[in-house]
Amino acid sequence: MNTETLRYDVVIVGGGSAGVAAAVGAASLGANTLLLEKNPYFGGAATHSSVLTICGLFAQQEPLLQVVGGVGQRFLEKLRDLGRYDGPIRNPGSGNVIVLLDGETTKYAFDQLVLEAGVTPRLHTTVIGAEVDSQQRLRSITCFQHGGTFRIEAEAFVDASGEADLAAFCGNQVRFGDDEGHVQAGTLVMQFGGVSPDIALHRHQFTAAIWQAKRAGVEDLTKDRGMVVRLTGSHHVLALFADERVDGLDSASLTVAEMSARRQAWAYLDAFRKYVPGFKDAFLVQTGPAIGVRETRHIDGEYRLAGEEALAGARFPDAIARGGWPVEIHEPGEAARYKHIQDKSYYEIPLRSLKAKQVKNLWCAGRIIDCDRIAFASARVMGTAFATGHAAGIAAAMYAGLGEANARDVRKELIRQNAIV
Ligand SMILES: Cc1cc2nc3c(=O)[nH]c(=O)nc-3n(C[C@H](O)[C@H](O)[C@H](O)COP(=O)(O)OP(=O)(O)OC[C@H]3O[C@@H](n4cnc5c(N)ncnc54)[C@H](O)[C@@H]3O)c2cc1C
Repeated sequence: MNTETLRYDVVIVGGGSAGVAAAVGAASLGANTLLLEKNPYFGGAATHSSVLTICGLFAQQEPLLQVVGGVGQRFLEKLRDLGRYDGPIRNPGSGNVIVLLDGETTKYAFDQLVLEAGVTPRLHTTVIGAEVDSQQRLRSITCFQHGGTFRIEAEAFVDASGEADLAAFCGNQVRFGDDEGHVQAGTLVMQFGGVSPDIALHRHQFTAAIWQAKRAGVEDLTKDRGMVVRLTGSHHVLALFADERVDGLDSASLTVAEMSARRQAWAYLDAFRKYVPGFKDAFLVQTGPAIGVRETRHIDGEYRLAGEEALAGARFPDAIARGGWPVEIHEPGEAARYKHIQDKSYYEIPLRSLKAKQVKNLWCAGRIIDCDRIAFASARVMGTAFATGHAAGIAAAMYAGLGEANARDVRKELIRQNAIV
């Protein structure tokens, strides 16, 4: 262990959409903020698992209703500055509204957002432990880099790790998946190149191709109805079919899933080349890099948001974010199942669902906030993660400065930072 201890006002663990938003929110309030990320770039699932369609920035409602602003909006403006934002895209069938990303622009946009806000970034750093004092305050965390381990102290922390690593390390109650330990499917995202730019992509053609390939004896094809979308700029085609049952906390399970999903990717390539018009010369540009893990741990917070509340468009006095994406459930090998939010509008998320129940100076953000399996199936998306991250960062910065973070002040600061609450 390196004996030097670093000190900050606020430390954020995990640099996905939630963590970046938390760091920018905290630094914009004047906190000396450190953002830790184990990968060599920020972006989380967007950049590390090629999840290149942001959901949840807009509700399904007509006319278009934006439900996430603040750091999420600043990210869109960054994409526009870099020439890679074509505006929101509505699926005329489902009404779902997404924003298309490109991986490299996303990495660079996150770098710029973090640096411009005055956050100290630290990539290639994995948090591996935490020390909590007798007052249930998280005092310091232990990090790993190839040069050895080191400690960091802070007044307040945000867990935006996607797996609730920090909450688990400091002894806050966490649970794996739903009350029965069931988690949503993992999926290895595939990117295909060499696809004719002239053909329109129809989902039913892919389903028909998969059935045909199965009849012809091609094995290793799990799902026959998945998402297919053409990316901006490159004309590459993004396809989500290769599902796996995976425990994202267990490296043995992840290893089996990664290898099995790669086998699937080559089988899908084979099927599409043979049976989908325009795919004759297709090739795999990339899988992953990592299998996308939708769900592992959730924190025990001060309030568990229920699916009925999300679906009914609930409002809360301590609301700090809006969830506008429908409930979207993925079981391995099955088509996604959707449930709509009342009036195709949005529900609110209370600050209490972000506050760790047992540890005083810890907030959580993104896909690990306290919600049941139905609410999770909506709140997990990246647009909503921007919003919960932004709020968690501001709450942590207020606690670091004042020793408390009440919802009224967090809301006021969110509004000052152009968030939508
Ligand atoms: C296959 C798949 C498809 C999806 N499709 C969509 C979609 O189309 N649109 C959409 O909006 N959402 C989609 N989602 C959901 C969405 O990607 C995630 O729920 C969202 O990325 C959550 O954001 P986050 O910031 O909470 O977590 P993540 O994006 O997972 O980021 C967490 C970050 O923390 C880092 N980290 C973890 N542990 C540590 C540690 N101990 N030390 C340091 N760093 C650590 C990770 O490396 C990662 O960068 C999909 C998810 C999957 C898996």
